[in-house]
Amino acid sequence: MSWLWGALLALTVVAVSYKLRFLTLSGAVVAFMMGWIVFGFGQFAFSIVMLFFFFSSSLWSNLGSAQKVKLTTNAQNVNQRDAWQILANGLVPTLLLIFWFNFQESIFILLFLISFAAATADTWATEIGVLSKSEPRSILGFKKVPRGTSGGITILGTMAGFGGSVAIVILGLFLFSTFLPFPFTWQNALLAAVLGLTAQIFDSILGASFQAKYQCLKCKRICEEGKHCLGAGTELISGWKWMNNNVVNFLSVVIAVFVGWLVAH
Ligand SMILES: [Zn+2]
Repeated sequence: MSWLWGALLALTVVAVSYKLRFLTLSGAVVAFMMGWIVFGFGQFAFSIVMLFFFFSSSLWSNLGSAQKVKLTTNAQNVNQRDAWQILANGLVPTLLLIFWFNFQESIFILLFLISFAAATADTWATEIGVLSKSEPRSILGFKKVPRGTSGGITILGTMAGFGGSVAIVILGLFLFSTFLPFPFTWQNALLAAVLGLTAQIFDSILGASFQAKYQCLKCKRICEEGKHCLGAGTELISGWKWMNNNVVNFLSVVIAVFVGWLVAH
């Protein structure tokens, strides 16, 4: 795709997403740049994989948003992605695509798909899992935890994550084996799907262990961000301050890609 068409397509997608309130303004700016790079450098196959991740995740985010508002601290942003959230999931695949463009080695196609399998698994698991009727349990020790707690898992969320990973990998297998000059094998697809699920598990483990958790000084609820009730402070009760949800997502994508690279070698 030419750069001009890439820019126009990215602008269209981002404008529609902003209008639908899938993105904050900062999220829209970053998503535009990322979209431009992927549409411009990549071929149609890469672009479709990225769009599938983005639109499926945004749609799931909007599912049951009234219920989600109760669980999150920042009601306004409950289903709008900001720049950091976009970067957490999209930076690694964008870099991999630039590598692929420069080196034309098929390993980067596999790693690109792994990174999106990981991001899709995480996002679907979070957005769908939070709507589970059963109470989540911590991935470490299986103790019951309040809904929305990082590291809490449900059967619904785990199945959703696996479904997301498999769905994007099947799409990738079809697109990459049809439209690219490299043989993209079913073994590659299987590896990507498994690593998507692995990343989701890793995400939950990090969420349960090192991710920062705060308690609101007013309502005493546990929250992920340093802000909760208006005008009241929060206190860090566990985890590391810098290890927020975006860092956890970013790290799980990086780990999945790294393991994929090791296995493929
Ligand atoms: Zn509060």
